[in-house]
Amino acid sequence: MKCRRCGEVAVIDLPRHNAAFCKPCFLEYFARQVQQAISKFRMFARHHRVMVAVSGGKDSLALWHWLASHGQPTVGLYIDLGIAEYSRVSRERCEAFAQRMGLQLEVVDVRQETGFSTPALAARVRRTTCSVCGLVKRYFTNRTARRLQVAAVATGHNLDDEASTLLGNVLHWQMGYLARQHPVLPAADGLVRRVKPLFTLTERETLAYCLLQGIDFLEEECPHARGATSILYKELLNRLELISPGTKHQFLLGFLRRARPSFSQAEPPPELGACRECGEPSTAEVCAYCRMLSRARRADDAFATKENKGGIT
Ligand code: AMP
Ligand code: ZN
Repeated sequence: MKCRRCGEVAVIDLPRHNAAFCKPCFLEYFARQVQQAISKFRMFARHHRVMVAVSGGKDSLALWHWLASHGQPTVGLYIDLGIAEYSRVSRERCEAFAQRMGLQLEVVDVRQETGFSTPALAARVRRTTCSVCGLVKRYFTNRTARRLQVAAVATGHNLDDEASTLLGNVLHWQMGYLARQHPVLPAADGLVRRVKPLFTLTERETLAYCLLQGIDFLEEECPHARGATSILYKELLNRLELISPGTKHQFLLGFLRRARPSFSQAEPPPELGACRECGEPSTAEVCAYCRMLSRARRADDAFATKENKGGIT
């Protein structure tokens, strides 16, 4: 297999582009995809400081590595969700990466902030760990981004993530989500701008980037479900891609170009105020995070009272 651009031995084939690349040409292809996403969607300017939300996995570390080594001012954010061994190892990966690259990493420890790990919070409010995890991550990402006054928050969402989310949103006709699914969510009333510079690159391509750049990332997925349906949607799209290369890209980019504008017109973004308790943006008087936390604390108090009365053994 030869590189399409220079004829050297190729290290990766990309059927969807009818191409194969050697290491330097693949890295150039990768750079072009990220640069195009940033400039075409006006994600941020070269001098802007960007907060990269990192999980310790391949996508977000590839993104941070690429931005930092292309001169973008960055700060990393790792949210320690307190999910036992998984959080311990992923935090270690992020800290080791930041140290090796000489980059600033902010760590928010959910247990320190709330008094509970994410699974413990979920058990107290009787919700799934994944839904509480999503809420906690959104909350602390925005709060930290405001505190650090960054221009934007960048996440490692790739083409597979975005295409499978879109498939799920279409299958369930999630009108609000369809209206807002986009590589850029603009800043609004206390919400910091959110961007996804890797959204045109596949999981396989971000993996190749990490392997070629010697990035030590965590391979394991979170033990809490990792939503069986999102994995199924990714598998289905991979099967389509195999038969018809380029399907994921056409599905997502076609939606963004042709369909999304109608959805956003039909579903304008909700009005936001400031949470009465914490000041973060919210559609209600008290934000979802503060409501969840007080519910968890009440559940804990009720538990302790029963325990003291000998009601629970
Ligand atoms: P996920 O929802 O786990 O697929 O992650 C999507 C993106 O969210 C990742 O690419 C990261 O940018 C960000 N992210 C996930 N987990 C964390 C975490 N624990 N701390 C900070 N950012 C995270
Ligand atoms: Zn609040």
